[in-house]
Amino acid sequence: MHNINELKSLLSEAKKIVITTHHKPDGDAMGSSLGLYHFLLSLGHQVHLVTPSDYPYFLHWLPGNSEVIDFQIQADKSIQLVAEADLIFCTDFNALSRIGALGELVHQSAAKKVMIDHHLEPEGFEDFTFWDVRACAAAELVYRLIVTLGYGHHIDKDIATCLYTGIMTDSGSFRFPSTSAEVHRIIADLIDKGANNSRIHELIYDTNTENRLKFLGHVLSQKMVILAEINTAYIYIDQEELKKYQIVTGDTEGIVNYALSINGIRFAILVVDRGEARKLSFRSKGEFPANEVAKKYFEGGGHRNAAGGISFLSLSETVAKIKAILPEFEEMLKQ
Ligand code: 5GP
Ligand code: MN
Repeated sequence: MHNINELKSLLSEAKKIVITTHHKPDGDAMGSSLGLYHFLLSLGHQVHLVTPSDYPYFLHWLPGNSEVIDFQIQADKSIQLVAEADLIFCTDFNALSRIGALGELVHQSAAKKVMIDHHLEPEGFEDFTFWDVRACAAAELVYRLIVTLGYGHHIDKDIATCLYTGIMTDSGSFRFPSTSAEVHRIIADLIDKGANNSRIHELIYDTNTENRLKFLGHVLSQKMVILAEINTAYIYIDQEELKKYQIVTGDTEGIVNYALSINGIRFAILVVDRGEARKLSFRSKGEFPANEVAKKYFEGGGHRNAAGGISFLSLSETVAKIKAILPEFEEMLKQ
C-alpha cells in the first residue's frame, strides 16, 4: 500500500468502521475479518462486521462471532451502519458483486474504502489497496497490515486465533504452494501470541455430524464421475439429496477436494443445486487455470487452483455444459 501513512493517520482518531467480506464467507473471510475487527477495537474504534449472508457452523466458535451482523437477517441495521461509516474495510474480495446487495450500499457510502485481498483482477472500487495475489490468505495480509502500521504488539490471543484460522483454511492446512516460509514464520508468531493450533484444527475439521459423513459417503459413491482420459472428475448434488441429509451451509465445503485427491486427477468440479441457482466449485492441480473456466463459462473467478462460479441452467443442463466445454481444455488437462 503506497498511502499507508494516510491510512495510519485516519486510524489515529476514533472512527465508525464497518468490515465486510464476501458472500457465504469461508474460514479466511471470517478469520481475516474478525482478526481485523479485534485489532480495530484495540485501537479504540467503533467497529461492526457485516456479512452478506450466513456462514458455516464450524466457524461459529471464532472470537467475536456473536457480534457479527448478517445482512440477510439485520438488513436495516446493516444499511444504517454502512451509510454512517467513516471507513469500510473489504476483506477477501475485490469486486463489489461478491457481496450481493450490500455492494451497492458500499458503493454509495461516502466512507473511505480499504480493500484487503489476494484474488486476481481487482475492480478498483476502493481508496486504499492492500492487495497481493501471492498471499496465501487475506488473513496473512491483515497480519502484514497490522505489522506495517506499527501495531504488531496489539496482536493478542483473539486476533492470533482468527488470523491463524484464516491462514490455515485458505492454505489447505499449510499445503498449497502459496504457503511460503514467511507464512510459517507468521504462523509461528501467531502461536507465540496465543493461537492454540491443535485446538483450532479440531474446531474446524473435526466437526462432522453423522448426517454429513453419510452424505459424503453417498456423494462419493453415487454422484462422482471420473473422466480419466482428461484427468477430470466432477460431482453433482441435487436438492433432494440436500434435503434428505439435512445439509446446511458449510456441509458441502471440502467435498470437491476428494475428487481432486484421486491419483492423476488435475481438475475437479463440484456442482450443488442451491435452488435459486447452481453453485460451482473448481479445484485444480499445477498449472491448469480453474479460474479461467469459471470466468469464461460460469460468471465466476478466483485463483488458478481454486475458483467458483454460478449457473442458472438446471442441474442436468449445467452438467451437460461442463461436459461440452471440457474438450476445449483437453490439451492442457492431458499434460
Ligand atoms: P469455493 O469453491 O470455496 O466457493 O471458492 C473457491 C475460490 O473461488 C475462493 O477463493 C472464492 O473466493 C472464489 N469464488 C467462489 N465463487 C466465486 C464467484 O462466484 N466469483 C468469483 N469471482 N470468485 C469466486
Ligand atoms: Mn481468501
